[in-house]
Amino acid sequence: MPVKITILYDNRSDNCQLQEGWGFSALIEYDGCKILFDTGGDASAFASNADKMGICFDEITHLLFSHRHWDHIAGFKEIIDKVNDKTALYVPKTFSWFLRKKSSSHLKKIRVVKALEEITPNIYSLVLKGGFWLYEQALVLKTPEGLGIITGCAHPGIVRILKTAVQHFHEKIYFVLGGFHLLYNPAESIVQAVKEFQKLGVKHVAPCHCSGDHTIRQFQEAYGPNFHKIGTGTILSF
Ligand SMILES: [Zn+2]
Ligand SMILES: [Zn+2]
Repeated sequence: MPVKITILYDNRSDNCQLQEGWGFSALIEYDGCKILFDTGGDASAFASNADKMGICFDEITHLLFSHRHWDHIAGFKEIIDKVNDKTALYVPKTFSWFLRKKSSSHLKKIRVVKALEEITPNIYSLVLKGGFWLYEQALVLKTPEGLGIITGCAHPGIVRILKTAVQHFHEKIYFVLGGFHLLYNPAESIVQAVKEFQKLGVKHVAPCHCSGDHTIRQFQEAYGPNFHKIGTGTILSF
């Protein structure tokens, strides 16, 4: 039962037919679920990428927004009327009240997650405080090889998110994919973050979005074949 991840929106692109831009969106297929995690920073580019990649919004079982920032919610209006009414919406606390209200006319299940919540026995939402009046949700998958963690912007701190997941599940981390938010960090703290990943036994890494080019290079050097370069259009399995 591998995890299949399709990157629908990222700062970089893997495919010249698709549009890149500041933001993040990924479709995660695992354990019989199709989870859309974030919707990018530009609504029409998000919709066009999803269309070109043959994504059927009607088949999405869970819709998750990592946090309320514009580069993760731009496609909200594109998606909300197109998912079926059984799609469950998961948002962290401090997510836009207006968008939650908008979804309530169409979706039957809306969950505002405050800390950790089981979505299915193998899929979890982990919410941590990421700043003043800002909470962020990461997706945690339990796989036979260890935990799979997907982050949006990692405002609570990427290492803190990983440590919290390990403390809770007592399992090694198989892969981490998404924005690591180390873009403005000094070089030493990026070296430190890579060391922390290794100490935690993280097997595979796929940093993108707000990770920063320097961070991406550092992880590439440290992880070799277990580093995955990703961008809009990447499809990968773990
Ligand atoms: Zn953000
Ligand atoms: Zn972001």
